Amino acid sequence: MTTNNSNVTHTLCDKDMDNNLNIAQPSPYLNMKFDTEGHAYTWYNEYAKGIGFSVRREYVNKNKETGVITSRRFVCFKEGIRRKDKRDMLVKKPRKETRTGCEAHMTIGLQPNGKYTIIDFEPNHNHKLADQSCAHILPSQRQIAPAQAIEFELADDSGIRPKLAFELMGRRAGGRENLGYLQQDQKNYLRTKRKNALKYGEAGSLLNYFHNQLLENPSFFFKVQTDIEDQITNIFWADAKMVLDYGCFGDVLFFDTTYRTNKECRPFGAFVGLNHHYQQVVFGASLLYDETAASFEWLFETFLNCMSGKKPKTIYTDQDAAMAKAIPLVMPETYHRICLWHMYQNALKHLNPLFKGHKSFGSDFKKCIYDCEDEDEFFNAWEDLLNKYDLCGNDWLQGLLKIKEKWAMAYGRQYFSAGKKSTQLSESFNAHLRDYLKSDLDLVQFFKHFQRAVDDRRYNEVLANYDMSQKIPRLKVNVPLLQHARDVYTGTIFDMFQDEYEKSLLVIVDRCVQTEPIYEYKVSLCGHSRQQTINFTSIDGTISCSCKNFEFVGILCGHALKVLDDLKMKLMIPERYILKRWTKNARAGFVTDVHGREIQENPKLEVGARYNNLCNTYVKLVGKGAASREACDLLENNASELCAKLEEILMVQSPSETQLPSLTMCHRNGDDNAMAANVFEKQSNKQVKHLKKRVVVERGKSRHKSCIEKGKKKRSQSAQVPTSSGVIPTTCHPLIYQAPQVIFIYC
Ligand SMILES: [Zn+2]
Ligand SMILES: [Zn+2]
Repeated sequence: MTTNNSNVTHTLCDKDMDNNLNIAQPSPYLNMKFDTEGHAYTWYNEYAKGIGFSVRREYVNKNKETGVITSRRFVCFKEGIRRKDKRDMLVKKPRKETRTGCEAHMTIGLQPNGKYTIIDFEPNHNHKLADQSCAHILPSQRQIAPAQAIEFELADDSGIRPKLAFELMGRRAGGRENLGYLQQDQKNYLRTKRKNALKYGEAGSLLNYFHNQLLENPSFFFKVQTDIEDQITNIFWADAKMVLDYGCFGDVLFFDTTYRTNKECRPFGAFVGLNHHYQQVVFGASLLYDETAASFEWLFETFLNCMSGKKPKTIYTDQDAAMAKAIPLVMPETYHRICLWHMYQNALKHLNPLFKGHKSFGSDFKKCIYDCEDEDEFFNAWEDLLNKYDLCGNDWLQGLLKIKEKWAMAYGRQYFSAGKKSTQLSESFNAHLRDYLKSDLDLVQFFKHFQRAVDDRRYNEVLANYDMSQKIPRLKVNVPLLQHARDVYTGTIFDMFQDEYEKSLLVIVDRCVQTEPIYEYKVSLCGHSRQQTINFTSIDGTISCSCKNFEFVGILCGHALKVLDDLKMKLMIPERYILKRWTKNARAGFVTDVHGREIQENPKLEVGARYNNLCNTYVKLVGKGAASREACDLLENNASELCAKLEEILMVQSPSETQLPSLTMCHRNGDDNAMAANVFEKQSNKQVKHLKKRVVVERGKSRHKSCIEKGKKKRSQSAQVPTSSGVIPTTCHPLIYQAPQVIFIYC
């Protein structure tokens, strides 16, 4: 049967559809007009919801030249009869029959004015229609909204089981029937997403992951290095918050690599630092193909590039020959220190008989590392050590002496290191990641775990911020100086300062020589023979102590505090001796990314937060409104108006905000003609092929390797880089792929 209602003319557009949301839909009629095919579908689907059936798109006719739809039929989902499946005999539990040959449908055709009208309509069904309480289960009524997808993706990434996430979201929406999708849809969505995540192969998926991060926050940075065969060798990435953190706390950097983080056994390296609460912060991370000087050089260069060229004052690494080679090339002004813990472990290995044979050797050796305050003292102690244990011809110690500036505290004390002496910070981060990682993880999963590890650390700062704002540290002595310190410093740093203050109470002034404008003090700690020299200049108020505590840690030492007290300057810490990075306001000000844009921490979280707020507000409203007919009408009438206004606002927003940033490529070296040719070539063939595979050598869990062993390995690796096929090429040209400003580099 066909209904003819040609007397009525009415064109449907967005506004009408919004007006009709949740309002019983009138029946379609012949010649009814729609702006687009999509509008017609939405209308028919709303009508179907009211009646109790589901809609399928059936045939479509398109203009062969323009591709514009000329006619389309929408049918009831029970249309047709399922063909007999040849496998039916083999299937134990065949699917239930859903087709009944129902003929209900609506057909639209394109009119000369570009709009669509209903040209055929059949309202009758040959089956029982779904009850209104089940209407939300009908397939065409189920849809996952983007904000909902974000929600359960977040839940999935946090390790929350899909069933629990579904239950939670259902409760928040005031019942699972209000969610607009079923738990099965959520499962399918996540499954498809995971499958999609790897559909481009590992290399493609990796770039895809980075690209998506970039879309979420344009300040996300990544760079991959490829070799001549377009295989990915080295990878570096840092999100917006890492760049932000480095901007605030990038004065001292800890870098260490670890294995067993992924099935490729690629060394994983994290750049780590300390925030104002003396907590670990992550500045960036890398997956390297190997640990050659060339790889490290690329990595450090890329890191600095990401951080707009800002170099750290000090970098700590383990005793790795390849790193030691790369650092002065990339950041010559940065003070490179080696991790004292690693060095001591190396000593235990190389000088084992001495440690075992002489009880005092350990303490004498440590004295050379930690206790000497200047070069003379160091050389005396070193000579004493060599003579006492007859070590003058020891090669290992001679090698160590050559790099004394990197480990002896006599040299390191004057460089800011936040008081740290080892890479323990980045090691503990790497160890934490190992807990998260299994060897069979693919790279995309690895990134998710990495993100969780980073998030854990970020949350620690949130907790510390809460403590800082809500809890006041106790003063051991109620004096103005400590009150001032408590006002400016974070809790942890205040504690460190208070310890220095306590020490100052035990400091005795042995002598003070005044030659205007300089006061030279000699002081010592009660019961200790070591004397410290403190110089105070009255013109500019500078104070320096031979213990170099301020230079090394960033807070004034007890000796200096004693002298300030003696000079009647005991009410406040002089401003020049308060490092901003240790204060409560360490994060004040803004940091820009590599493009010079101010960094926003997480634009995506803002969307999530807005969604949650709206949910709370509207669920309450709806809950109240449903109690009475009148209240319900009020809400429904206003909803139409609200929808129309909403649509206006969303229409105004620039579509470019949602567009993908385009990838452009260039390369840094070579002449202009060659560059143009390569740019073209790479643009037309921009897919990198594979992650370069290594011939994996099984490694022990222990990170500790002797520097000599490592040195040998580095030399052989830097000479020859095996390809995936195991063939060693005579030349290897690394290429670089980078986004957003993708760079291919021919070196
Ligand atoms: Zn039907
Ligand atoms: Zn001192």
